[in-house]
Amino acid sequence: RAKADGRNCLRFYDPVMERELHGRQALLQALKQAVHDEQFTLVYQPQVNVQTGALEGAEALLRWTRTDGQVIAPATFITLAEQSGVMVPLGRWVLRDACEQAARWHRAGRGLRVAVNVSAVQFQDAGFVQSVRATLCETGLPAALLELEVTESLLMQDVPRVQAVLRELKALGVRLAIDDFGTGYSSLSYLQVLPIDTLKIDRSFLPRPGEEASQAVLRAVVGLGQALHMQLVAEGVETGEQRRAVQALGCVVMQGFHFARPMPVTALEAWRDAWAGEQPGGPGA
Ligand code: C2E
Ligand code: MG
Ligand code: MG
Ligand code: MG
Repeated sequence: RAKADGRNCLRFYDPVMERELHGRQALLQALKQAVHDEQFTLVYQPQVNVQTGALEGAEALLRWTRTDGQVIAPATFITLAEQSGVMVPLGRWVLRDACEQAARWHRAGRGLRVAVNVSAVQFQDAGFVQSVRATLCETGLPAALLELEVTESLLMQDVPRVQAVLRELKALGVRLAIDDFGTGYSSLSYLQVLPIDTLKIDRSFLPRPGEEASQAVLRAVVGLGQALHMQLVAEGVETGEQRRAVQALGCVVMQGFHFARPMPVTALEAWRDAWAGEQPGGPGA
């Protein structure tokens, strides 16, 4: 049979392929177990307004901590989670955990808007809007303190349905953001009619050392966001030069390692107090 099937069987017996398949199966098994055992946590990365010093919000980012203590980044497992049906329950957990945390901050009188990433698979799930509504209701989080981040590519699929879902979400009072903006292929006329509050400018548009001159695209993306009256957030700001370049174009809300890394809750709270103390007019000023 191996000989008769030729190329197919050769592929099947390829030791590299077999290892990959095993790795994938093993990873999927571990992922399903992790969902079951709740081995996930969220870390939060601040979004700061460099003009006013205000902390505008924090993005919740998923981390998987294995039983051996190893921390796995979402790039390693999100795609697999999406392909295997794990993403919907995992995404629900993320939403729930982030809203519970944001509601605790709100009740403590320290309301902070939380941004949650929504996978296309999760967004397309028929129960998505209802799960957002139920989560807000059960956690008591004011809808305005939740921002949902969706990708540009998601918005361009099945336009009428996406538009209807966005309107339902908007009717709940949550904010909507487009993540990694500029890396997909948005129809600009379509973008104009969507109820989007925030554009998160992908970090690939930030100037790199030695390329400071090539800011034409960054300028265009910022200009587009301003023309559409959307809030702009520059993602992945790592250096003072990048901060200055972005701010010079009029984008004042930023997120990136230059300000803070994604952090567990207690570290974020400490960071927040320190940040407030450093601002002009802040407690420590
Ligand atoms: P994203 O939503 O665009 O999140 C920003 C990513 O950039 C995060 O990576 C963050 O740690 C990283 N980052 C922040 N500042 C900087 C910087 O200054 N420099 C660099 N080089 N990177 C920076 P992370 O946490 O590994 O997440 C990667 C992606 O995985 C996210 O990109 C998002 O698409 C996805 N993801 C993360 N958490 C979730 C989740 O709960 N649900 C879903 N569906 N996707 C998630
Ligand atoms: Mg995001
Ligand atoms: Mg992003
Ligand atoms: Mg990204």
